[in-house]
Amino acid sequence: MDLDDHNDDNDRPKTPLEEDCCGNGCIPCVFDVHKRLLNEWENRKAQDVKIKISSNLLSLLSYKAFVIADISETSKDYILVHLEYQEYKMQNSLNLYLIPGQYIMLHSWCMSRPYTPITWTKRGLVLLVKVYKQGKFSIHLKNAPLGSSIDVRGPYGDFKYESNSFRQIIMFGIGSGIAALYPIARTIVDDETELTKVHLIVGFQSVEHVPLKKELRCLTDYWNFKCTLQLSQLNNKTIGPHGLNIKIGRLNKLLVADYLQCNDTETTLILICGTSEFNRSMKEWIQEMNYTHLHIFE
Ligand SMILES: Cc1cc2nc3c(=O)[nH]c(=O)nc-3n(C[C@H](O)[C@H](O)[C@H](O)COP(=O)(O)OP(=O)(O)OC[C@H]3O[C@@H](n4cnc5c(N)ncnc54)[C@H](O)[C@@H]3O)c2cc1C
Repeated sequence: MDLDDHNDDNDRPKTPLEEDCCGNGCIPCVFDVHKRLLNEWENRKAQDVKIKISSNLLSLLSYKAFVIADISETSKDYILVHLEYQEYKMQNSLNLYLIPGQYIMLHSWCMSRPYTPITWTKRGLVLLVKVYKQGKFSIHLKNAPLGSSIDVRGPYGDFKYESNSFRQIIMFGIGSGIAALYPIARTIVDDETELTKVHLIVGFQSVEHVPLKKELRCLTDYWNFKCTLQLSQLNNKTIGPHGLNIKIGRLNKLLVADYLQCNDTETTLILICGTSEFNRSMKEWIQEMNYTHLHIFE
């Protein structure tokens, strides 16, 4: 799936180099001009987002029928589900728009469940789904015939990230919580104007359970992305995926303090996505450490 469809920032005013400024206090300085152009560009972009919302093929209030185009295993207990909008040809003025971290509602088998797309194009999206042994919805989804229809509405979620607004972002997640954090990390590292560093820390039982290993390894090729897998069980024979750090033990208050100790509370954004219990504990620990820029996906 081509992700680039949702990220067209080619017309962003180019940042001048240090040596482009003569240092003579010119009015206007090349950096002031750039700042003004950047403001104008950001306003245009915000306007564009409003236009995109009104022409979104996803609807907040009504379900749209998608087709299950592919299902594949990505690790123990996790599958990737590709959904495509088939009426696209008839309604080609509509495209699918999502902000990274937003979720959709799936409806089928007389049930509804929220899921957070990890990638998307103008007419399709990919979900990372944890299959629970007793999971009513996830088991149906895993066994659904390819080509069958499923209803989708959305997108929902109020997280918005402004480019370069923090020096670093520390993301803490467990299990399927990675679905909300991965697309945000990817969008940031894909943007070559971004100076923000991202550290994704995700907890799983073992390496075999970690989904998106290949995708995470690709992100570690970027200078500003680091990933640590916090594993609750380590099999001695297990070799960690190249490029990803491995630490043993569940995320607890001490470990969280350790991850955050070198960061400035003012310039660090913390994102959290896990179970309600995980989110609640993380919020408590992080606030005790005086971090105020915090967003919880729940
Ligand atoms: C905003 C939001 C976004 C979400 N995005 C995703 C996503 O991208 N990918 C994804 O896999 N899931 C996501 N979820 C969770 C998802 O919506 C379902 O709750 C989950 O897939 C279980 O549904 P189920 O019908 O298979 O299990 P259920 O039949 O509802 O539950 C069966 C059993 O599974 C276990 N279980 C279910 N959910 C959880 C949980 N969250 N934590 C621990 N144990 C659980 C419990 O033991 C439960 O008794 C999201 C949830 C929210 C609120």
